[in-house]
Amino acid sequence: MVKICCLGAGYVGGPTMAVIALKCPSIEVVVVDISVTRISAWNGDQLPIYEPGLDDVVKQCRGRNLFFSTDIEKHVSEADIIFVSVNTPTKTRGLGAGKAADLTYWESAARMIADVARSDKIVVEKSTVPVKTAEAIEKILTHNSKGIDFQILSNPEFLAEGTAIQDLFNPDRVLIGGRETPGGRKAVQALKDVYANWVPEDRILTTNLWSAELSKLAANAFLAQRISSVNAISALCEATGANASEVAYAVGKDTRIGPRFLNSSVGFGGSCFQKDILNLVYICECNGLPEVANYWKQVIKINDYQKSRFVNRVVSSMFNTVAGKKIAVLGFAFKKDTGDTRETPAIDVCKGLLGDKARISIYDPQVTEDQIQRDLAMNKFDWDHPVHLQPMSPTAVKQVTVTWDAYEATKGAHGVCILTEWDEFKSLDYKKIYESMQKPAFVFDGRNVVDPQKLREIGFIVYSIGKPLDPWLKDMPAVA
Ligand code: NAD
Repeated sequence: MVKICCLGAGYVGGPTMAVIALKCPSIEVVVVDISVTRISAWNGDQLPIYEPGLDDVVKQCRGRNLFFSTDIEKHVSEADIIFVSVNTPTKTRGLGAGKAADLTYWESAARMIADVARSDKIVVEKSTVPVKTAEAIEKILTHNSKGIDFQILSNPEFLAEGTAIQDLFNPDRVLIGGRETPGGRKAVQALKDVYANWVPEDRILTTNLWSAELSKLAANAFLAQRISSVNAISALCEATGANASEVAYAVGKDTRIGPRFLNSSVGFGGSCFQKDILNLVYICECNGLPEVANYWKQVIKINDYQKSRFVNRVVSSMFNTVAGKKIAVLGFAFKKDTGDTRETPAIDVCKGLLGDKARISIYDPQVTEDQIQRDLAMNKFDWDHPVHLQPMSPTAVKQVTVTWDAYEATKGAHGVCILTEWDEFKSLDYKKIYESMQKPAFVFDGRNVVDPQKLREIGFIVYSIGKPLDPWLKDMPAVA
């Protein structure tokens, strides 16, 4: 029986390994983590992450050929294939701080593998890493190898949170990069055999190591670039009376462009896009390519611009101040169908409103009060360092309350900001909300969830990103 061990039981390691276990009953899969609480949650009824369909997959194979454990060394030493899916956050200190990937967790994982291995291993990079990381990992492993053969593969993960299980069941492609040596080719084939249990062969791409590593960074940069492109156009739409949804629809009809990922919004978030682009920028700079670095940097700048433009719009519409006013925030997760708040635009929007002394009442169906308070108290880039290694109990931000009900959050509010596109926000009783709010009542829709015309008929003053402006907003100071 082939044995797989995965280091890191997070958003990637957990779902990916659960699907491998489901699709490959003859493989034993053990997911290990340094976080005891995370592993207990994977072994309990309340999984540590919310992902549609995940519960079902875990229930089918947990205890059969899927296990979660903190006994890292035992399972690493027994495994034939070791996936490494640990955090690769942005460095917060030292050389490359604010841009380069922090490979501390990866390096310590590699050193541990080198220490405990007693037989040949295939080590798979599942984490997103800078191009050429495999070379460094190879050095760590082979330097301490005691005659053991280590083959390093790059197998970046392309799942999207919120649709992870569907993406894993039916991936657009699986990418495997390896050394172009007999040993390397054998290792690539061994991993290919795992995926071939359910992925059609023509969707399993094999490349050299560096192409696989770079493809993941490039894919995220391209995806984020589409969002920043449409968001840049959304600002121009608001200034001219064009409608960003109509423009995106017309643009996306071109088959060379395609319709997906063209919704204007308050900005992209999530643990990957910003971190991976910064990483790409840093790699370009280190390779003497400042023009390329500046090109990609602009994707992040537009994203930051979009978030601050949103905050400015809220403040300027409400007579240039939100001091002491109650603002309801609907949605805090970085997208619907996940409880993940890493780099969510809601953090920057809330911080911007708090900076103008607003009182904020937040509702998100999947995010806890503890998480929200932690996010609002945390410094930039600190969020992706494992929670159990972070200073605990941040001081709660007093002007923030968290509710478990959208109607409670909006009661008595002067304005509502919709920051996540949860389906339930489409069907809220906005008449009831309007009646319970201060007047004039504002809705600032950062995700194009509501029909602005219907809400205007109720009496709201509505701002929807990229849509023709409400007459009220046209009279307010220009927003930059
Ligand atoms: P995560 O924070 O959810 O999970 C990482 C886990 O690794 C944590 O539970 C942490 O405790 C554990 N860990 C850290 N060091 C360890 C060690 N030495 N041994 C064992 N466990 C250790 O992160 P994630 O979202 O799963 O992302 C993991 C990697 O995958 C990152 O490189 C990320 O860029 C990449 N990625 C993420 C996504 C996504 O949608 N989240 C998609 C594709 C790729």
